[in-house]
Amino acid sequence: MDCVSGWFYDGKRFRRGTVGWEDGVVVETRSSVARDPIATGLIIPALWNAHTHLGDAVVTQELKGTIEDLVAPPHGLKHRILATAKDDAVVDAMHRAMTTMVRTGTGGFADFREGGLRGLKLLFAANAAVPLHGVALGRPVGLAYEPKEAAALLRTCDGIGLSAASDWPADDVRKLSEDARRAGKPFAVHCSERVREDIDTVLDLRPAFLIHMVRATDSDLERCADAGVPIVVCPRSNAFFGMTPDLPRLLRAGVEVWLGTDNAMINAPSMLREIEFAYRVARLRGQVSAREVFHMALRGRKLLDSTAFPGIRVGEPANLMVLDLPGGPHGHASLMRAGESDIALVVAGGVPWHGAQFPAMPRRRKASRRPATS
Ligand SMILES: [Zn+2]
Repeated sequence: MDCVSGWFYDGKRFRRGTVGWEDGVVVETRSSVARDPIATGLIIPALWNAHTHLGDAVVTQELKGTIEDLVAPPHGLKHRILATAKDDAVVDAMHRAMTTMVRTGTGGFADFREGGLRGLKLLFAANAAVPLHGVALGRPVGLAYEPKEAAALLRTCDGIGLSAASDWPADDVRKLSEDARRAGKPFAVHCSERVREDIDTVLDLRPAFLIHMVRATDSDLERCADAGVPIVVCPRSNAFFGMTPDLPRLLRAGVEVWLGTDNAMINAPSMLREIEFAYRVARLRGQVSAREVFHMALRGRKLLDSTAFPGIRVGEPANLMVLDLPGGPHGHASLMRAGESDIALVVAGGVPWHGAQFPAMPRRRKASRRPATS
């Protein structure tokens, strides 16, 4: 049995002691400190990145322009580049982003994968050798519903993730959401990012969660809270486009908030950086507790399992991070200041990863001439 010692998070507070695991599963938590732990420090469950677009990690140039210029479909910069990028380049870029996630203590993510079936296949290729639980939310190639394409997508992916409902003909987006529901898979969509959208129209699609809602009114947020629809916030992405998410207002409305890093061409997919920024930006509008921000960075796992536990306990997967930070009752506050250099150990699927011993980039495959999307 491998083990780590220090202060571990039990879902409510940090407790002094030891966490041991075997075959990828936590098998022991105890209050005494082990004699030979493989790392010591502040021990937390792996973080969960509730919203990514990993494919646009292939865009490496300096970004200039508005949100419409850069990310809006079908003509934003990212879509133009993805349409002509080589498959290998997109896979390598996504793999690099996933490696960043493992190194920075993320155990899983929900990706909004552009490019239809082909886009999904590239995501699966990039994820194959990386110890990360990727949830692939696909979408049709274009902004129109076609039954055969929707059926093929839903056989392949974990669910549907769209740009914004208002980008679509109303009838088409409704059919897509109904197909997802019939398949028993989540349907999720960006909402009220560029402009306020009609919340009743969006909630009628029965989304598993919404992303952004920075342009939403108080009553829109209360409608989401009443409907039990979580909202994923991506504060660094919003700030890049000149917006400030009002985290205290979301919580006052009773919304369940999850945290994500959004476009990989804008933000490195490091949840530690997102946590730090979210905590700071919340202070612009009041205050959100360090514990709440930490839980925002864990809750996205509920997409996989609605009863997911936000702490370390026997029987949970051994996906952990050990940080060289002060523990004790102020562990939550320490986390708000954590940086990559504070990481002592990452345990992914029971395998400890120290320093630079991270999954290698995939060997180069035969170059493909096919575009990643069209
Ligand atoms: Zn997004």
